[in-house]
Amino acid sequence: MAEVLVYVDHVDGAVRKPTLELLTLARRIGEPVAVALGAGAADTAAALAEHGAVKVLTHDASEYAEYLVVPKVDALQAAVEQVSPAAVLVPSSAEGKEIAARLALRIGSGIITDAVDLEAGDEGPVATQSVFAASFTTKSRVSKGTPVITVKPNSAAVEAAPAAGAVEALSVTFSDKATGTKVTGRTARESTGRPELTEAAIVVSGGRGVNGAENFAIIEALADSLGAAVGASRAAVDAGWYPHTNQVGQTGKSVSPQLYIANGISGAIQHRAGMQTSKTIVAVNKDAEAPIFDLVDYGVVGDLFDVVPQLTEEIKTRKG
Ligand code: FAD
Repeated sequence: MAEVLVYVDHVDGAVRKPTLELLTLARRIGEPVAVALGAGAADTAAALAEHGAVKVLTHDASEYAEYLVVPKVDALQAAVEQVSPAAVLVPSSAEGKEIAARLALRIGSGIITDAVDLEAGDEGPVATQSVFAASFTTKSRVSKGTPVITVKPNSAAVEAAPAAGAVEALSVTFSDKATGTKVTGRTARESTGRPELTEAAIVVSGGRGVNGAENFAIIEALADSLGAAVGASRAAVDAGWYPHTNQVGQTGKSVSPQLYIANGISGAIQHRAGMQTSKTIVAVNKDAEAPIFDLVDYGVVGDLFDVVPQLTEEIKTRKG
């Protein structure tokens, strides 16, 4: 069976959920071989083996922390040359997409970004994408070289699938370009205790209807009752009510959670582009004609200042 390389996104050895989702998809098209780089790389092996990695290629060097993505591209290229995989899967984070694009260029392959599903095809893996502001769903395959595919978080379930997960050291020689861009400082973002927006299983968003920065407290309260991340429309962000890092949409982040709750958001095409692949969509809007209602699984026509606090209380009561 062909091997499929999975790039491991981890923080000091703690594997992030999108990588475990990639292992689920990788098993559909071959045998997953994980590539873990940097500090704590070897510590990822147990979690990766538990979720189907037959092998874990590891390499640690200070370059991964000191320089931007090129050292990681060098390492993935070395892994591709060693394994000759059927595909390379990378999480669709900002960093993941940069790594994937550079890798595809290096190895002369085609790339598919932001896939939301993956299946085996007669002529190689077939990826499903949601394109043109989510107006179309396409199925594509790479016809040149080793397919490099980035996959959006929440596109697959995390499944337990115990495998050998044998750790092997990857041999990497860094290119001249690897040290071209040095990291001069890192500032940790203030933690809200909420999940990362693009990885969250539930996202609760607020738009212009929230009508003020201080009113986002009711959006946050609903989010916290559900263990959700908070999103915002561009109108809310442009008004200075919520940070740009939380913007959902064409010029913000693209999310694909199990549940997306839009409050006081009209459903403009540019907002849809970032949330239309959510599995279940709920909207609260006082205008029954708002375009968001064309998209929803459940809609509440009502004033969010009445509906959202009641919903939050009900969830808290039911949770006990
Ligand atoms: P509005 O469209 O003003 O809608 C507010 C909604 O709130 C209305 O439907 C109203 O009925 C409802 N409402 C008001 N009060 C209440 C209440 N008390 N209770 C319940 N409902 C209430 N937008 C994005 O979101 N993300 C993007 O990334 C993005 N990128 C863009 C890129 C470009 C190039 C362009 C041109 C636009 C982009 N936009 C983006 C902007 C987009 O076109 C819309 O203007 C924006 O999404 C509107 O935000 P909104 O739905 O919050 O506001």
